[in-house]
Amino acid sequence: MIVLKTSRELSIMRKAGKISQTALRLAGEAVEPGVSTWEIDKIVHDYIIKMGATPSFLHYNGFPASACISVNDVVIHGIPHKRQLLRQGDIVSIDVGACYEGFHGDNAWTFPCGQIDPEARALLDATEQALYRGIEQARPGNRLGDIGHAVQAYAEARKYSVVRDFVGHGVGAKLHEDPSVPNYGTPGRGVRLQAGMTIAIEPMVNQGRHEIEVLKDGWTIMTKDHSLAAHFEHTVAITPDGPVVLTRLD
Ligand code: MG
Repeated sequence: MIVLKTSRELSIMRKAGKISQTALRLAGEAVEPGVSTWEIDKIVHDYIIKMGATPSFLHYNGFPASACISVNDVVIHGIPHKRQLLRQGDIVSIDVGACYEGFHGDNAWTFPCGQIDPEARALLDATEQALYRGIEQARPGNRLGDIGHAVQAYAEARKYSVVRDFVGHGVGAKLHEDPSVPNYGTPGRGVRLQAGMTIAIEPMVNQGRHEIEVLKDGWTIMTKDHSLAAHFEHTVAITPDGPVVLTRLD
């Protein structure tokens, strides 16, 4: 069931979105060679708590941390660890959610660790742009397939692939709500978008093939061919005036 949000609920989600975005930026500023993913997770956790919010991911289905930190060929759901030190040239996907006054914000970004290869830079830029292409389509009267198609077409035109086994989602009082928001699709197909819907659009784009595998820890999702993967996400409200990114600062 898709839950439409009132304007009062949207203004709370805006606050949750700002907290999530600030936590993500603080995490990104901490990305440098020699820093552990555990330290970055702690920055995220402490900021969210300080703001009177709760980390959405901590203990979610048993997830042990506040941020998912996914390095290089890890697509999503990487578990932060004290022994995992970032290295020059890594690409570091950080996914952060915060729950404030009962509503969630959810966002992700892939950060470069020091100097990265031009090919890695191109993957990050393309995934970020694919996210914006998807967001542009998040307006009343369009359909979910318009969002997915925009993301997919942008990524595939650059010879990348989009992950199929994990998708974006509705977000609100629950971290994951209906509908599912795939990063692939056919224009004009799927659920019709309405004002009041709030969705997390989150392209996961692989340099190689789209297939993924799950590590034995039950969480970590890697590219099956070990190619690099990038992940960019915003929480977006569909309004009569078009898409409004809730996980932004200004
Ligand atoms: Mg999400």
